[in-house]
Amino acid sequence: MSNLPSHARVVIIGGGAVGASSLYHLAKAGWTDCVLLEKNELTAGSTWHAAGNVPTFSSSWSIMNMQRYSASLYRELGQRVDYPMNYHVTGSIRLGHSKERLQEFKRVVGMGRYQGMELDVLTPDQMRGRYPFLETHDLTGALYDPYDGDIDPAQLTQALAKGARDLGAKIVRFCPVTGARREKDEWVITTPQGEIRCEYVVNAAGYYAREVGKMFGRNVPMMVMSHQYILFDEIPELAAWSKEVGHKLPLLRDVDSSYYLRQEKYGMNLGPYERNCRAHWVTPDDPIPEDFSFQLFPDDLERLEWYLNDAVERVPILGTAGLSRVINGPIPYAPDGNPLIGPMPGVPNAFEACVFTFGICQAGGAGKVLAEWVTEGQTEWDMWSCDPRRYTDYTDQDYCIAKGMEVYGHEYAMHFPKHYWPAARKKKLSPIHDRIAALGAQFKPYNGWERAMWYAKPGDDTSEEATQTWGREGPWAKRIEEECLAVRDAAGILDLPGFSRFRLKGEGAREWLSSLITGRVPKPGRIGLAYFADDKGRIVTEMSVMTIEDDFFFLITAAAAQWHDLEWLQKHRPADAAFTLDDVTANFACQILTGPKSRAILAEVAEADLSTPWLTHQTAEIAGRYCQLVRVSFAGELGWEIHTKVGDTAAIFDAVWEAGQKHGLKPFGMEALDSLRIEKGYRAWKGDLSTDYTVLQGGLERFVDWSKPSFKGKAALEREKQQGVAKRFVTLTVEAGECDAPYMSTLWSGGEVVGETTSGNWGYRVGKSIALGMLRADLAVPGREIEVEIFGDRFKATVQLDQPLWDPSNERLKA
Ligand SMILES: Cc1cc2nc3c(=O)[nH]c(=O)nc-3n(C[C@H](O)[C@H](O)[C@H](O)COP(=O)(O)OP(=O)(O)OC[C@H]3O[C@@H](n4cnc5c(N)ncnc54)[C@H](O)[C@@H]3O)c2cc1C
Repeated sequence: MSNLPSHARVVIIGGGAVGASSLYHLAKAGWTDCVLLEKNELTAGSTWHAAGNVPTFSSSWSIMNMQRYSASLYRELGQRVDYPMNYHVTGSIRLGHSKERLQEFKRVVGMGRYQGMELDVLTPDQMRGRYPFLETHDLTGALYDPYDGDIDPAQLTQALAKGARDLGAKIVRFCPVTGARREKDEWVITTPQGEIRCEYVVNAAGYYAREVGKMFGRNVPMMVMSHQYILFDEIPELAAWSKEVGHKLPLLRDVDSSYYLRQEKYGMNLGPYERNCRAHWVTPDDPIPEDFSFQLFPDDLERLEWYLNDAVERVPILGTAGLSRVINGPIPYAPDGNPLIGPMPGVPNAFEACVFTFGICQAGGAGKVLAEWVTEGQTEWDMWSCDPRRYTDYTDQDYCIAKGMEVYGHEYAMHFPKHYWPAARKKKLSPIHDRIAALGAQFKPYNGWERAMWYAKPGDDTSEEATQTWGREGPWAKRIEEECLAVRDAAGILDLPGFSRFRLKGEGAREWLSSLITGRVPKPGRIGLAYFADDKGRIVTEMSVMTIEDDFFFLITAAAAQWHDLEWLQKHRPADAAFTLDDVTANFACQILTGPKSRAILAEVAEADLSTPWLTHQTAEIAGRYCQLVRVSFAGELGWEIHTKVGDTAAIFDAVWEAGQKHGLKPFGMEALDSLRIEKGYRAWKGDLSTDYTVLQGGLERFVDWSKPSFKGKAALEREKQQGVAKRFVTLTVEAGECDAPYMSTLWSGGEVVGETTSGNWGYRVGKSIALGMLRADLAVPGREIEVEIFGDRFKATVQLDQPLWDPSNERLKA
């Protein structure tokens, strides 16, 4: 008889570390009516053969949060669920070969400290103190992480499973999911053991996530790599040392050479992420097998030879050890190497917790995040870096393969701010891509769309090598400055393909929109910024609302926010709504024309009234083509956004470009725009604006209309207003050195951590390094001096008045 229940609140597909953790955390949240279906035994996917390293290190705030949570959960899990586990907290040493690597380490130390972890930077002598077998002559330093370690992945999974079962959740093994259909607001999940109905479903199928996704009509952006580690025989010298000191060596990561080396009993385990890597199951003649449970790929030692030799030079005792076994298993990759955790795009009541490349160290945190998504529809920490909706329709298989290979081959690479990763580019091109490329544009993709970042001149060094710096200076700096000053003194034009755009039209649209945003809905002919809060008053997103008629709007939002924002709107749209909501992103293009000469330029080419005030829009004609001229400028100068049909982009650009030449019109890129906007204190989505902050903390009260009888988040914001906000958004000027403050740099005052930056850049119009950030409310006083920690060094910073640094009264904008 089948032991498959006929119904559950949640069905999780896949019983690896992540599926088991999701089940455990759902049960812990009181959702015990949950069933996990595993096609084989628990751990049959990637989990059984994982090396089990549990680092906390990440240069991403949210991933670090997740891994920190995992490590602390694993420390107590065995005892909590009464399932003893092998979990060794050995600490780790991450080797640095360059100044830039050391800067990265110092930054991570700062982030770690903010999350309550005491990471440290070691000198070569200190490294040898912790790791006597290490060759250090060519190293600049190392990061020491005392919380790093290794766990037995199978035991971890079983412990999580036991914890879940003890709380009442169910696990059905040898029960492959073969299909899914939607019936009367329920999912019906089919298996050879019968059907099970559920309210919510979670795809936790690891490297099979793509196959499971297809059952829901979802194209999961992923590919599969082969990843190997080599186990070595016992090394007598290591055994003697270990017995003498009574502990294992810390885990070693030579991140510039790209491998880890871990003590395994008295032998070692070497795991490289090799450049000459190999994808699997990527061509039609090599499909993913129906079942690969507990299987491995054949050894491929040739690929690892360079890494093996390098490791022997680094830790010479390794050269004395015999090789005992190679593990070569499948490991899934999303195009950026981060997992997918959150709502399954476009599919109701379905979630993803899959495509983990570091699923053992992330399983604990991932389970917490997934459970929050399911039970609350929101997460404690902003988890955009793992949100499945960060990818949209451009992630075809070729894209996923090329990006997966790139990420794997650079698994430990530093992500420098002016380095735009080259693989799988040109997925979406503006009609004037070739024109701006000919002007020197250096591109980077936004939601697949190639946008100009800065414009190089002949002779500028545009090589990848030149970008390997955290510093402000580089071949781009002079050009970005010139672009900013052209916008200040004359005019600049920026092609902005892929601005996400939704058309909202029909009876009741205004009223509904008003119920979702914190502020007022603009009148017809006007455009305004609107903030969407969740029930806790936290910032979900920001959109520009362009009101065409009373019940007719265009909602315009960041390129990357396309699926995220559409889903937020769709989720809140009443089933019986008389209005329509459509994604019309693909139909429209946008160019920004801004600077004091922009009116004179437009006057030559546009049939339009150029005297209408700031925050208005009008239908106009340029080069005989219809367009919408919108009187706004994210750069903070006189200017218009020219919204057109995609097909009219080139004609309009050509006309404006030609007319602009005698006015000093220059092309400018996203780097200049970021510098210009930070001088105005304009926030960027998922940096300055995220669910880590409430609308009031974000300093956005002027966008809150308290007189509205209700809007989403109002009750929470009213409570917060009454109690007083704990931290406040501030603009800081920083007496910075060669680097401006990156995202999540720590703010200090009187030896205490008092906040964090959310973005930083150099402002060329004001000639200052600027940071936006969140500061403890009592310190958010204009003129107050604090410190910002930038790559390990502290710099003086001054809190500014709550107004733009550039053109505080917006005179230039309103000119
Ligand atoms: C050699 C190697 C070493 C690694 N070392 C580490 C490490 O040191 N640290 C680390 O953090 N990560 C490591 N990883 C990565 C880690 O193994 C994975 O990220 C992790 O195991 C993913 O767990 P999961 O639960 O998401 O997926 P999986 O463990 O793959 O689990 C998915 C489960 O879904 C089941 N399933 C699939 N399809 C269906 C279906 N239709 N119906 C029902 N069930 C289904 C599968 O049988 C499987 O059990 C390593 C990977 C490799 C290959």
